[in-house]
Amino acid sequence: MDRTQSDIAIIGAGMSGLTCALALGEQGFAVRVFDKGRGPGGRMAARRAEIAGEKVSFDHGAQYFAAKSSEFTAQIAAWADAGVVAPWPVAGEDAWVGVPGMNGPLRHMSQQAEVSWGARIERLEREGEGWVLFADGGTHRADIVLVAVPAEQAAGLLAEVAPELAAIPATIQSEPCWALMAAFEEQLPITGDCLNDEGGAIGWAARNSAKPSRTGQETWVIHGSAEWSRANLEQSPEEATSKLLAAFFSQTQLPFKQPLHAAAHRWRYAFPQVQSALPAHWDPKRGIGLAGDYLVAPRVEGAWLSGKALAAMIAQGK
Ligand SMILES: Cc1cc2nc3c(=O)[nH]c(=O)nc-3n(C[C@H](O)[C@H](O)[C@H](O)COP(=O)(O)OP(=O)(O)OC[C@H]3O[C@@H](n4cnc5c(N)ncnc54)[C@H](O)[C@@H]3O)c2cc1C
Repeated sequence: MDRTQSDIAIIGAGMSGLTCALALGEQGFAVRVFDKGRGPGGRMAARRAEIAGEKVSFDHGAQYFAAKSSEFTAQIAAWADAGVVAPWPVAGEDAWVGVPGMNGPLRHMSQQAEVSWGARIERLEREGEGWVLFADGGTHRADIVLVAVPAEQAAGLLAEVAPELAAIPATIQSEPCWALMAAFEEQLPITGDCLNDEGGAIGWAARNSAKPSRTGQETWVIHGSAEWSRANLEQSPEEATSKLLAAFFSQTQLPFKQPLHAAAHRWRYAFPQVQSALPAHWDPKRGIGLAGDYLVAPRVEGAWLSGKALAAMIAQGK
């Protein structure tokens, strides 16, 4: 069978899913991507808020990215040419961020792909040689289905229809992360624009408004450490907000300032503990595959490499 004749459905429009979609599209495959979110981002999301009449955006997931591989270095250069990433030397000399928000590259990629937003795939079923995807708004049929969602969610989707593949993500455990998004009336007197793992409740904090192309109010994104986020996983967002704010002012030794806006988001599956030997998995007999950061490294580059690897496996028919 000429696989370029196949309809491919990808579940997940994060970095791994969209990278795979574009690479397969370049090879002539017909690809549709489904994502439960309202727009591009996944764990590279940017959350908007209106604060004192101004629109503000927070990078509440990934903070920056860097390349270790030459392939990803070249990809970042291409995004820079397209104006969707910019260097952010505050976080390291090779650190980059999406512009105008962290989801900049994903927004750019999604414009070159067929993506259905607000489409949560609830379950999969085998039908003949192909697959049926069940979303709350209807069904979609495809010859090939690729699952590019966090490990725990991939294991759940695949448990019944592809237990041998489900066993791979089922071994992965991810660390959670509570993310606090806070805006202040005035600039906080903190030297530098980020605080990196200083022990205690705060794992990372960054002056979001100081990233390139961000405008408006003084904003901070404050991440709970892995240990703190695990211990406080089932707190309400309001409780997490007030605890993280208190910890932030205590760690920075600043007098408490009431924020104009503060909201917390819980990333239940933020950072997978990677154990896999292969960067992607592909079962050509059943037409089903897996990609995601959890197969390479818990970083933007890991997700990108996994998406590329899955597309290459399919294109090579292996
Ligand atoms: C708080 C935090 C901080 C981070 N900091 C950094 C950092 O500084 N640097 C760095 O390199 N990396 C960082 N990361 C990690 C980085 O964001 C991820 O490695 C990368 O974005 C993962 O991409 P992915 O495509 O594998 O998964 P995701 O981005 O999680 O994409 C999966 C997509 O699948 C969708 N989805 C899930 N289930 C379904 C379903 N049933 N139906 C339809 N759609 C579904 C989701 O909506 C999502 O869009 C951070 C992550 C978090 C959460």
